[in-house]
Amino acid sequence: MERSLIIIKPDALQRGLVGEITKRFETKGLKLTGCKMIQLDSEILKIHYAHLADKPFFPGISAFMQSTPVIAQIWEGFEAVEAVRIIVGITKARAADAGTVRGDLAMSFQNNVVHASDSVENAEIEVKRFFEESEVFKYDKTMDEHVYAGDEK
Ligand code: ADP
Repeated sequence: MERSLIIIKPDALQRGLVGEITKRFETKGLKLTGCKMIQLDSEILKIHYAHLADKPFFPGISAFMQSTPVIAQIWEGFEAVEAVRIIVGITKARAADAGTVRGDLAMSFQNNVVHASDSVENAEIEVKRFFEESEVFKYDKTMDEHVYAGDEK
């Protein structure tokens, strides 16, 4: 099974959207295998957003992401990385499709309520970046019997 790393961002925390966002992944049928509140710092953000380090908006994102604690989550499922990106929607929230988290809940490019891993490779790197092994849980979700067909489990 794949897993994807989600960060519920400070704007969502301030706006009381943690439950709403979590619900979207939960009701999709994904399995929550890690969840915690953390305070990000500039060192981890430099690594996490290394692909944006030379963009003029990088200092803004770094300050924004440190403005409150965030909620880090791991969601697991069959082809979960793609499924989560579809649920989240495109980066520019005001242009994101209705029905997606960003499309329904946000207007901003920067303040787009959630981070989601963009590839299977990055998801594995990001899970290890934000979670110790002891904070990642294994359990059988009995609902999977109904969520997946036999060859997808
Ligand atoms: P995504 O989060 O959709 O994977 P990126 O990795 O490109 O997108 O960007 C990381 C984060 O940086 C975005 O979620 C957003 O908060 C911020 N960001 C990206 N592009 C811009 C931009 N042009 N202006 C302001 N903030 C941006």
